[in-house]
Amino acid sequence: MKFSLNDIVRKNILGLQPYSSARDEYTGEASVFLDANENPFNAPYNRYPDPRQQVLKNRIGELKKIPSGQIFLGNGSDEPIDLLYRAFCEPGIENVVAIAPTYGMYRVAADINNVAYREVLLQEDFSLDSAKILTTADSNTKLIFLCSPNNPTGNALDQKEILKIINNFNGLVILDEAYIDFCPEKTLLATLDQYPNLVILQTLSKAWGLAGIRLGMAFASEEIVSILSKIKYPYNINLLTQDKALEMLQHTDRKDNWVKTILSQKIILETKLAKLLNVVAIYPSDANFILVKTLSAKKIYDALVDRQIIVRDRSRVSLCGECLRITVGSENENQTLLKALEEIGKI
Ligand SMILES: *Cc1c(COP(=O)(O)O)cnc(C)c1O
Repeated sequence: MKFSLNDIVRKNILGLQPYSSARDEYTGEASVFLDANENPFNAPYNRYPDPRQQVLKNRIGELKKIPSGQIFLGNGSDEPIDLLYRAFCEPGIENVVAIAPTYGMYRVAADINNVAYREVLLQEDFSLDSAKILTTADSNTKLIFLCSPNNPTGNALDQKEILKIINNFNGLVILDEAYIDFCPEKTLLATLDQYPNLVILQTLSKAWGLAGIRLGMAFASEEIVSILSKIKYPYNINLLTQDKALEMLQHTDRKDNWVKTILSQKIILETKLAKLLNVVAIYPSDANFILVKTLSAKKIYDALVDRQIIVRDRSRVSLCGECLRITVGSENENQTLLKALEEIGKI
């Protein structure tokens, strides 16, 4: 199978002439900027931010060992997810395939874009069956969504199964690695050059502790990145986010320490949760959260809310009957949760 990106891009996107901003048309050194109708006062916030986010991409490229031309930055991961639909899926005609259960935004973005969303259930142990995914895809399938480690199940998917899908599918495979920093399995970033149909999503929202600034990353071929860049809002990453991200990315040691602390807290939390009367099972987690099967998810959820503790009720999600998803918090937060669950008891 020969993969050609031009065969799968929507025709209107292929021919699109993108908006050219003032800051796009001039990128060299200058000292007087009278091109963008900005206010000359209130520096530095008076200026439009760099629409290409070049300095930030250079730093991310250095960290991830990926050329900056293969990096797309979005307002959270939500932005590249939505843009992938808009670039590749003809509304009302084409479809995508995704594992289930998984992250809810893939479906929401499909619904917004009027693109059919085909779910393929994971196995009972939450493992991936590549054959089932591939037989669910047809000639109108443009994207396949995989998430590893997966949310809300917490497990990493088998890389051999992921690669079978990438190797045997003629559309794009979107691999969401939002939780990869917590996972012993390695990222597939290093394989990007072998797979012109692979898009890897990562984010600063989890391990980097920056959910508030909204910065999602998509790594892919230069061709794919150019298409996403062509259709994004010109100034999609604001100045405050670009500056804060750049500052935080200088401190990889801080991120590494947080990850270490969270992972050691996870082990303690898992051990203690397993002893509680209202906990039926704890699923293996490669992420910073734990999926827990309980006696009665809704009742426990409500009893925790009464104590001002919020976890995520996933009991209506396929394969997750009576399950709560619990984020690993600080030592104090985890202890508060455990104490409350002990009080609640059998319910
Ligand atoms: C939390 C999460 C993200 C992060 O989304 P942002 O928009 O970057 O905050 C992406 N994918 C999955 C599966 C997640 O759970």
